[in-house]
Amino acid sequence: MNTPADPYLLTPGPLTTAASTKAAMQRDWGSWDADFRAMTARLRAALLAVAGDTNGDYDCVPLQGSGSYCVEAMLGSFVPRNGHALVLANGAYGKRIATTLRYLGRSHTVHDTGDYLPPRAADVDRLLAAHEDITHVVVVHCETSSGILNPIEEIAEVTARHGRRLLIDSMSAFGAVPLDVRTLPCEAFVSSANKCIEGVPGFGFVIAKQSALQAAKGNSHSLALDLHDQWDVMNRTGQWRFTPPTHAVAAFLEALRLFEIEGGQAGRLARYTRNRDVMVDGLRALGFEPLLTAAWRSPIIVTFFSPAHASFSFERFYELMKAQGFIIYPGKLTNVESFRIGCIGALDEHVMRRVVEACGAALRTLGVPDGAPAHASLDAREALAA
Ligand SMILES: *Cc1c(COP(=O)(O)O)cnc(C)c1O
Repeated sequence: MNTPADPYLLTPGPLTTAASTKAAMQRDWGSWDADFRAMTARLRAALLAVAGDTNGDYDCVPLQGSGSYCVEAMLGSFVPRNGHALVLANGAYGKRIATTLRYLGRSHTVHDTGDYLPPRAADVDRLLAAHEDITHVVVVHCETSSGILNPIEEIAEVTARHGRRLLIDSMSAFGAVPLDVRTLPCEAFVSSANKCIEGVPGFGFVIAKQSALQAAKGNSHSLALDLHDQWDVMNRTGQWRFTPPTHAVAAFLEALRLFEIEGGQAGRLARYTRNRDVMVDGLRALGFEPLLTAAWRSPIIVTFFSPAHASFSFERFYELMKAQGFIIYPGKLTNVESFRIGCIGALDEHVMRRVVEACGAALRTLGVPDGAPAHASLDAREALAA
């Protein structure tokens, strides 16, 4: 059992990993050695299977660095220098995509629906009809800053209908939320080791159409982030171009083994959904209110309004939770006080019941009678959802 010295991370990556995933890192691998090349090959094949690529239309390109390195690699490799991207933003990660495109000097248009609302097909339809020069649509699958689950199926459908290409940041969703390339047309999507597959940080991966990887030659602004080159070298030699995160790869293979034992994506979704429901029901009973209405609430991470009571302080609440063995996450909303609790990682509903008890104990210590937010926060949500 985790103790306060070794707390549960209720955060969207890095997250709590299984003991055997950590133990898999207790040895050293040579990057050139055939054993490690076989590990890389297994990892790529396993991820393509999770993505449903049965026809071999796609390939998987792992890349060193955190998730944002892979997002930048995807944008720089697939949006051509004379391309134009439509960014569907509703939180910090969508904004980061726009910032990345600005750094890359790729022209882009941002459609921002704020913190509470998803992008909808009708708006994308209108924007694509009005802007013939848009070549790519970029969307975040689960916007981890609020926990909203964006409707990528309808976005994919309208993007394909207009003959444009779709790029998805599925960082915090892939592996738990369905994303099957047989039914969801996309050019590429990206995720990383330390999200729903429950590995340790160190690399991410892009799953892209073989045709897109072929066509990406010469597009990238960066050698280290050139997906075409990483893919080409990996396919010819079995190796990563530069020092691979060997221990993180070994841990990831163990995490994939556990993922398969759990029943793959469906099994993981069931556990995370149960985690969320136990946690949300318990916190609501304490008076807390989630930011999002149930329809858009992901099983990945949930944002709660901060309680309105004058004695509530997030910093003190955080320390009280940590002392009980739980690391929670600050909010990332633009205009209301909030905090977040993640549902992902190697933890289950029994842990979530203890999280709820710990929240209740922390409120009592603070002298806050309940978790009820200010009416103004709720009114803002109702107004936006109307
Ligand atoms: C975690 C995450 C990222 C990547 O963040 P890094 O800190 O670079 O790993 C990107 N997009 C989303 C939606 C995420 O949840």
